[in-house]
Amino acid sequence: MIPPIANHFVAGESPATALEHVRRLNDRDVKAILNLLGEHYDDRDAAAADAAEYRRLVDDIANSSLEACISVKPSQLGLDLGEDVFRETLAGVVDAAADRDVFVWIDMEDHTTTDATLDAYEELARAHEGGVGVCVQANLKRTREDVERLADVPGKVRFVKGAYDEPADIAYRDADRVDREYEALLEYAFEHYDGGIAVGSHDPAMIDHAIDCHETHGTDFEIQMLMGVREDAQNELAAEYSVYQYVPYGDRWKSYFYRRMTERTANVRFALRALLDR
Ligand code: FAD
Repeated sequence: MIPPIANHFVAGESPATALEHVRRLNDRDVKAILNLLGEHYDDRDAAAADAAEYRRLVDDIANSSLEACISVKPSQLGLDLGEDVFRETLAGVVDAAADRDVFVWIDMEDHTTTDATLDAYEELARAHEGGVGVCVQANLKRTREDVERLADVPGKVRFVKGAYDEPADIAYRDADRVDREYEALLEYAFEHYDGGIAVGSHDPAMIDHAIDCHETHGTDFEIQMLMGVREDAQNELAAEYSVYQYVPYGDRWKSYFYRRMTERTANVRFALRALLDR
C-alpha cells in the first residue's frame, strides 16, 4: 500500500488500483498514459516480467472502455542487457498492443540511449502505422536533427525539456536556453509534422506557445502532464484540448516519488497541503 503524499504521484501498486485511477481521470475528460515503474534491469527475467505485465495491462485496457495507453522505459525492457534484448522485448509489447489497438509510448532516458531508442521507435512505428510514440528532449543539442528525421515517421513525438543531467558538450544546461530550444522544436513540429505532437510539460509558457503554434498551423496536438502535478490545469485544459496524465504505478515507487520531491518545492508544498486537508 502506498502511503499518503506518495499516493498523489503514484496510482497504487497494482494494475487494478491504477485502472481505478484512470477511471476517475476519464470522468474528468483526462486520458491516461500508464507506466509500470521499473528501470535499469540487469537480468532478463526482470525485463521479461515487466513486458508480460504490460501485455496483461494492454488486455485490461482493451477489455475496458477506458481511454488509456502505456509508456515503457528502454532500460526496463532490457536495454542495459543489449540492444537486441531491448528490441525483442519492446517488439513483443508493441505487437501485443497493436493487436488490441492500444498506443505505446517509449520514454527517453539519458543520452547514451538516444540512438537505440529512436532506431527501435522508427522501425516499430513504420511497422505499426500510428501505434507508437517516442519522447525527445529539448536539452540535447542533437534533438533538432532528430526531430527533422522523425517528421515523416508515422507515429507520435512527445516533446519534453529533458530530465537527465547531461554533459555540457552535448546538452544545453541553462534553463532559459532549454526553454528557447523547446519553443523552437515545437515551432518546427507544428509547421512540418502531420499531427502526433505531444507537449510533455507543466510549464504554462510552453503550453501557451504550443496553443499559439496550433492556432497558426492547425496541426493536432495533445498535452501531457504527470500525475500529481498541476492537476487543476489538466482539468481546465481538458475542456478544450486533448490532455493525458502520465500515471505511474507499481511496487518500485520509492525512487520515483523521491525524484518528484527533490525536483520541486512546489511538489512538497502541494503534497503537505493535501495531507493537512485530510
Ligand atoms: P519546468 O521547467 O520544471 O518548470 C517550468 C514551469 O512549469 C514552472 O516555473 C512552473 O510554472 C510550472 N511547473 C513545473 N512543475 C511544477 C509543479 N510541480 N507544480 C506547479 N508548477 C509547476 N523527461 C525525460 O527525460 N524523458 C521522458 O521520457 C520524459 N517523459 C515525460 C512525460 C511527461 C508526461 C512529462 C510531463 C514529463 C516527462 N519528462 C521526461 C520530464 C521532463 O523532461 C521535465 O524534466 C519535466 O517535465 C519538468 O519540466 P517542465 O517542462 O514540466 O517544467
